[in-house]
Amino acid sequence: SNLNKTILITGGAGFIGSNFIPYYLEQNPEQHIINLDALTYAGNLENLSEVEANPHYTFIKGDIRNRELLEKIFQENHITGVIHFAAESHVDNSISNPGVFIETNVNGTFNLLDVAFKTWMKAPFEYKEEFKNCRFHHISTDEVYGSLGETGYFTEETPYAPNSPYSASKAASDMVVRSYHHTYGMNTVITNCSNNYGPKQHKEKLIPTIIRKAVSGDDIPIYGNGKNVRDWLFVLDHVKAISLVYAEGKAGEVYNIGGDTEMQNIELAHRICKLLDELKPKDSGSYSEQITFVKDRAGHDLRYAIDAGKMKSQLNWKATAEFEEAMKITIHSIT
Ligand code: NAD
Repeated sequence: SNLNKTILITGGAGFIGSNFIPYYLEQNPEQHIINLDALTYAGNLENLSEVEANPHYTFIKGDIRNRELLEKIFQENHITGVIHFAAESHVDNSISNPGVFIETNVNGTFNLLDVAFKTWMKAPFEYKEEFKNCRFHHISTDEVYGSLGETGYFTEETPYAPNSPYSASKAASDMVVRSYHHTYGMNTVITNCSNNYGPKQHKEKLIPTIIRKAVSGDDIPIYGNGKNVRDWLFVLDHVKAISLVYAEGKAGEVYNIGGDTEMQNIELAHRICKLLDELKPKDSGSYSEQITFVKDRAGHDLRYAIDAGKMKSQLNWKATAEFEEAMKITIHSIT
């Protein structure tokens, strides 16, 4: 067991978690991180090569659906906080194969929350004081709020209306976490975030797909008429926001995190192509010529947009990445 503060991170080999871990270890050099990840198709330990040798970092390959394993990890380590990233995260996969989304995102989150709660509640007397300090931070998405029309923003008070099996599973997990605060007084926080982009994102996602298809000379597939709107957040801005909420957020609260960078998918594709034209000019013409519309995603939400006012007023956070600059970093990490 580790006497320093130990945080259990789940899903740390995925996109956001593997951007979070190096940042957090650098900011909190006295703390210890245990990263629990099942290494599904979406997890990649190469994402963590920069922290592999750090004595404050431990990796455990394991599944949050396995309750006995979670109990063992909590028994063997003095864990005083959880930041829960692990999830099935790709909407298209949730349409073709919803079952695993319920198992991991709902049942897995329940296991983790319940094991953390029972461990912290039952801790020996000298640790009891710590119960209220032991924090469970659940990482979620703005997709739980459903779809917006052309105007308006999601706030922390927007009613839940998830439309895909992915967002429904995340919404369900948010509700279970919420209930552990209201029922048992557990120190929970939930962050609901807009679409992220940046290094280490899995190649199946929209932005890596646009970049990969462009440079390999293939059609760049855009769903429907390309008019769906997303609010893009650079992953390092998200990582900083998570770190702040984990340290300073109020127990039981929800925080919406957004990038204030709304655009239609078709505009996104054109802006990336324009950057690629500068960075990797083709012999003739523009990468934009490769953009092709494909059959729309079933139940495709029209627009997501976040009002991140609470993060700004209460935690003095706002997204700072400039889109074109951050996209250049993303492009260089992929090509
Ligand atoms: P990701 O798919 O890149 O990574 C998920 C990680 O979880 C992988 O390393 C995978 O191996 C692991 N995992 C999956 N099932 C597991 C299980 N049963 N047990 C243990 N580990 C398991 O996802 P991401 O994009 O990094 O997203 C992380 C979190 O952030 C998710 O909860 C997601 O819902 C949320 N989120 C993502 C975005 C985004 O734009 N990527 C936006 C808002 C919220």
